Amino acid sequence: MPDTLTKLAELFNRFPGIGPRQARRFVYFLLAAPRSFREELARGILELSKIIHTCTECQRFFSPARGATLCPLCADPTRDRSTLMVVEKDVDLENVEKSRGFTGTYFILGGTVPILEKNPEERIHLKKLEGLIAHRAKEGLTEVVLALSLTTEGESTEEFLKEHLTPLAEKYGFKISTLGRGLSTGLELEYSDPETIKNALKNRQ
Ligand SMILES: [Zn+2]
Repeated sequence: MPDTLTKLAELFNRFPGIGPRQARRFVYFLLAAPRSFREELARGILELSKIIHTCTECQRFFSPARGATLCPLCADPTRDRSTLMVVEKDVDLENVEKSRGFTGTYFILGGTVPILEKNPEERIHLKKLEGLIAHRAKEGLTEVVLALSLTTEGESTEEFLKEHLTPLAEKYGFKISTLGRGLSTGLELEYSDPETIKNALKNRQ
């Protein structure tokens, strides 16, 4: 592969779930695609840094209208602000929304904490979560739902969060719950169907 192609393949290889072989297939697909497609793709990628910001409350990515700092979901007055659900990433939030089983608000952790991680606070937005909880506590927060994947990393993240949030729960008087084990072991929120998510929410404890 010529240099440019190798470099591009290495970039695709960094995408979630994409291995080196698939990355090379993407490159050859682009080579064979019309020039207009490549240009549209490149423009779309460049636009991302101009239009996408993170919500100051839930930390999800969104395109703000006229300098808004809150995403449409956090700004929605019909959402129940007494319940806060903590998920790992944006796509998990989208999947829970699709299930229509949750009317509260969210917080995107931005990652997971593997077992024996030396600097867990650099991998997730813990300080921002604690800040949001303190803020919401004044508005009558009653429950924080930890909705992490049932994987080894998800479980160690849940333990880490429980450890840090329990003192806050005692101070502000809210409950910490986790998803019902209707989700089978090893299943990730990202790949769960709406019905499974709805049941896991109903059976949260
Ligand atoms: Zn938000």
